Amino acid sequence: MEKLFADVIVDISSEKLDRSFQYRIPGELAGQVKPGVQVWIPFGNGSRMIRGYVIQVTDRPACPVEKMKEISRVAEDQNDINTRLIALAAWMKENYGSTMIQALKTVLPVKQKTRQKEERWITLGISRQEAEEQLEVYRKKHHVARARLLEAVLEEETLSCSLVRDKLHVTSQVLNTMEEQGILKIRSRRVYRNPVSQGGEGGWHLRLTESQQKTADAILAGWDAGDARPCLIRGVTGSGKTMVYMELMEQVLQKGRQAILLIPEIALTYQMVQRFYRRFGDQVSVLHSRLSQGERSDQFERAKNGEIQIMIGPRSALFTPFPQLGLIVLDEEHETSYQSETAPCYHARETAIARARMENAYVVMGSATPSVDAYYRGSQGVYRLFELENRYENRQLPHAVIVDLREEMRAGNRSILSRSLQLAMEKRLERQEQIILFLNRRGYAGFYSCRMCGAVMKCPHCDVALSLHNGGRLVCHYCGYETASPRSCPKCGSPYIGGFRAGTQQIEEIVKKRFPAARILRMDLDTTRNKDGHARILSAFANQEADILIGTQMIVKGHDFPKVTLVGVLAADLSLNVSDYRAGERTFQLLTQAVGRAGRGEVCGEAVIQTYQPDNYSIQAAAAQDYVEFYRQEMEYRQLMNYPPASNLFAVHASCEDGALLDTAMTYLRKYIRKIDPQEQTVVIGPADEAIARIADRYRKVLYIKHEDYRLLVWMKDQLERYMEINRGFEKIRIQFEFNH
Ligand code: ADP
Ligand code: ZN
Ligand code: ZN
Repeated sequence: MEKLFADVIVDISSEKLDRSFQYRIPGELAGQVKPGVQVWIPFGNGSRMIRGYVIQVTDRPACPVEKMKEISRVAEDQNDINTRLIALAAWMKENYGSTMIQALKTVLPVKQKTRQKEERWITLGISRQEAEEQLEVYRKKHHVARARLLEAVLEEETLSCSLVRDKLHVTSQVLNTMEEQGILKIRSRRVYRNPVSQGGEGGWHLRLTESQQKTADAILAGWDAGDARPCLIRGVTGSGKTMVYMELMEQVLQKGRQAILLIPEIALTYQMVQRFYRRFGDQVSVLHSRLSQGERSDQFERAKNGEIQIMIGPRSALFTPFPQLGLIVLDEEHETSYQSETAPCYHARETAIARARMENAYVVMGSATPSVDAYYRGSQGVYRLFELENRYENRQLPHAVIVDLREEMRAGNRSILSRSLQLAMEKRLERQEQIILFLNRRGYAGFYSCRMCGAVMKCPHCDVALSLHNGGRLVCHYCGYETASPRSCPKCGSPYIGGFRAGTQQIEEIVKKRFPAARILRMDLDTTRNKDGHARILSAFANQEADILIGTQMIVKGHDFPKVTLVGVLAADLSLNVSDYRAGERTFQLLTQAVGRAGRGEVCGEAVIQTYQPDNYSIQAAAAQDYVEFYRQEMEYRQLMNYPPASNLFAVHASCEDGALLDTAMTYLRKYIRKIDPQEQTVVIGPADEAIARIADRYRKVLYIKHEDYRLLVWMKDQLERYMEINRGFEKIRIQFEFNH
């Protein structure tokens, strides 16, 4: 049916986004009126002519058609950033199934009154020469934190206190002592609008290595030749991907256009930002989660006005309203934080590509361990693929060994610390080097395995691990298959079978007992609960106030500890047993990252990976730091099981307070899918309970539909939406669709 009505908003401010007005679209404008387009409309009682933005076009009138006014004309000038962002919001609504208002609120730079905030700034309280002498004294006395702070102030001249706390990991106690001694001055003043620094010129320039330059040149040559495909750079950690990004940005800026750099919040470190700041000076700004709404909107305003040319930040920085966006870079492309968990549940990679398409900009992604999805597209030519194989100056990657925990059991060692790990730890402690013990807790949620032979109970239909539920039943979260938990191992007959249970606290106790003299820090939800707990622990460890850091995922991402020469992975396979078809991929990424924590300084590092599944390819490839081999084997599995990217997976997530109603509704949905697909072209799995079957008194179930053709699945989604609108009962059920998640 023809779409005849347009929802129009007349003011882009936070309170008014929800208020749209419906207008008729006159026949002659039918093709031109689309989301984002600016139109002139008669408004209010006097029908005063004003401009508004179309946010939605529909065939369903919201009020009697006779009473509805008509759009008078389309505005001549459509080159407006809001127009492009509204079009992007419409794309997100379409692809991620949110409401248009949710999408608009995510995308539009909503103006907010900025409350002037006082910020404290640090400068030198003594002359530069005195400061340099003082720095020597600190170094001699091993006052690591003080030295680091003084060094930074000498370099930058002015530093914001919050930046010092968050990114340099210096406590306010240290700061206050240095102020009392007159070495530093702290003064308050109105917030300077740029959270990075001030008055800098940039211009700091390093020569690219040959392989870095070759990559940058090839990407640029493609652009010049009109190749607008997204580019993916796979480069081992330390190969200099950041150097390539900077080179590309430079070129884009020279053409009078702007660039966005997306990085996971956790990798948004002081050092990272400083590198860009040194090169590009005041043209750079940063968004991070600690900025207030007002400060964020301030940064967006500056981007709009052309005061800055580069925005660095986590996924929401993607919506920076640059007037002429030229480049979007996604660093650490594989990170799960690029996926939004609240509606619209967009993925920053897909959304970046969509925005770039709409604005004739380019997308460049980089990672040491690209997602299988992205690398697949790279190998298929959907993306252009580039590889950086070597570290800068051929610095060594850490040496990793795999320890078979089954052997340990057989040799009578029931400790969570294998003999080789204990030996390696002894050596480091003797040499006063630091150790990280990483407990892989993804997948902690009760899978069931044999400690003697390592066998994991798996679903016979889906090849993912079964989860142990209260009451002792084992359940598959893909298809709903259930079975009783066995008393002895079906493979080797051993009675040592059960759910794996070990937390960081138990590990701390074990390590304390084994190494009573060692100083231990533990980082987990318990120890980081209070404010700054996280930063305090990291800074204590960086200052070498401890020999061993024990922790979960939090400790392996984004932090550099040059004195760490040993990383012990306590149970590498835990994350292999999550009921998720991407468990192997996550394990490989996590282990590669963990291993990479060892030996960042001059001394070559070592990693000990303990596992019950030493033959697993994710673990072997991570130990060998061999991405390509991992990818090859992982794709074999995906192809065999028809999981993305080999096929497409469409998920219907549903929740409802009434469990019985939810059961019935999902059964109907399944029947309906079969009805509209009578030849059974698609594979339908479920309905099954979600991994967490009930949250906040809502029952949760999921249906999966697999097919090679993405468009067929999108068509199914539309059909399901209609079906649920027409039929009774569904209004009580909250539905969320997901593609290839
Ligand atoms: P990646 O982002 O691929 O992990 P980085 O760009 O962070 O790698 O580079 C790793 C380290 O090597 C950094 O400390 C960086 O300063 C250094 N480095 C890389 N390339 C160069 C270069 N061409 N000249 C000088 N230093 C470099
Ligand atoms: Zn067994
Ligand atoms: Zn199953």
